Formats: sequence, structure tokens, C-alpha cells
Amino acid sequence: MAEENGWLRRVRALARRGDLPHAVILSGAGSDASQAQYLCAAMLCTEQDKPCLHCAACRKVLGGIHPDVCIADDPDHKELSMDLMRSVRQDAYIRPNEGARKIFVFPDSARLNERDQNVLLKIVEEGPPYAAFIFCAVSAALLLPTVRSRCVEINLRLPEGAFVPQEDAAALCRVLLKEDAVALSERLVSLENRRLKREELQSILRDAWRVCAEALLLRCGKPDPAQTSQALCHEISRQFDRVRLNRLIELLRRCGDECDYNVGTGHVLGALLAGWDDLCRKG
Ligand SMILES: [Zn+2]
Repeated sequence: MAEENGWLRRVRALARRGDLPHAVILSGAGSDASQAQYLCAAMLCTEQDKPCLHCAACRKVLGGIHPDVCIADDPDHKELSMDLMRSVRQDAYIRPNEGARKIFVFPDSARLNERDQNVLLKIVEEGPPYAAFIFCAVSAALLLPTVRSRCVEINLRLPEGAFVPQEDAAALCRVLLKEDAVALSERLVSLENRRLKREELQSILRDAWRVCAEALLLRCGKPDPAQTSQALCHEISRQFDRVRLNRLIELLRRCGDECDYNVGTGHVLGALLAGWDDLCRKG
């Protein structure tokens, strides 16, 4: 098992908060699925500090014998067979045997063709709440944008101490990508209902700002947003032109700054929604 470097710590932090996403791209991964095992252990571990690596669930995962971890691979063929994809689809609707989740690991996403990915997209989106998916890929770019936008990317090669947006900020960016005012308003209402402190909201908005700023740099020709969530940055830089991206960055900065003053978080979130509405209308 690898030592606790950047991404392992991130997995632990997400697990501690109960925030492990149900669909993950492990980018920069080799095809031996060993890193995916660690993530599976974090999802199925029954102890407080996940993955503890010594409870029964962790030991089964690491031994490759946990019944709720399904490795979907076919090393003898370039692409996964239709039969295998069909069985994944059926299996996803059968409840886990003993764990809280049923996890499907794709050790080499290069073997997933477009048709396979579209099948998976439907299960990732609409599958049962216990189903989880881990896509290992040399680069997240091997997966369709539609799949990428529904996954959280964990980059195994992210340098130590690199900026990783907090999950709420990444989720906010993903909603902005939908360009759907209703979805954004729902997201903002759910943030408001959590009664965040102003400082917490500010830190979410500043992370989202930074992701969008990286996307703009990418659009302007910076080769790789190595300091942040790569798949998300690429997605944003493709979707918005420079003018809109600039306006979005300005809006996030302004809303983040507003949190410095004695205003309610509801007020700031309202300003974000109104600003976004305005931005979309300007086209
Ligand atoms: Zn454990």
C-alpha cells in the first residue's frame, strides 16, 4: 500500500466528512487497480477513521475478496464486451451483500468505448443510491465530458500541497456548467439551509472562483491546470467563451468579497443567483 501522500489524505478527509462521492475518476492511475482498492476500502470500512485497513471489510477489499467490489475488466480484449456491460447494469440494481455500497471498478477506462460510457452514464446518474463507480484512467480525458461532469476527479499525480477545491465548490461549478437556473437555485437553497457561517460560504466561493480562474488560464493556452481539479477545469473552459468566463469569475469574486461585510449568507447567495441570471441573459 502506498504511503499517505496528497491523494490518500484527500480520500481520508472526504471519508471523515462522509463526503466520498459515488462516482470517482482516479486520473493518473495505472491499470493495476491498487489505488482503487484503497478508495473501495474507504467506502466500505466500518471503522471511524476510514480506511482503517484492518477491519474485516478493509481486509476483504485489500485481499480482493469483498463481495461488494466488482472489478469490470477484460484484459484480453481491447474493449469490454457487451455481456460484461450488461451484467454490470443488472448487478447495479442488486443490493450489496454486506457493505453500505456496491462498487464497480473500471481498472482501465481506455477499454470503455462511447457506447459503454453512455450505458454507464445512465447508471451513474439514475442508479440506486448504494451503487458507486470508480474509473481508473491515465487521463480523465479518456472519458466522455458527460461522464466526467458527473464524477469527482481525484488526481493521483497532484503534487503535495496542491490546491484541491472543496467538494461544495466543485459541486457549485458543476451546477454552473448545466446553465440551468432552477438547478442553481436548488443548489444555493441547499447551501443556505445548511446555515453556513459567512467564512464557510466565502471559502466555497473562493474555491469556485479559483477553479474558474484556472479554466480561463487553460482557455488562454496555459497547458495544464495541474494545481486544481483538471477534468472540471477542462469542462468549464470548453463550455464558456472568454467573455462569459470573465464575467463568471468577476461574479464569484464579488460574491466572495461580500462575505467580508456584515451581510447574511442568504443575501450573498441571492446576489449570486441574480448575477448568474443576468450573465446568462447577456449571452
Ligand atoms: Zn476498515
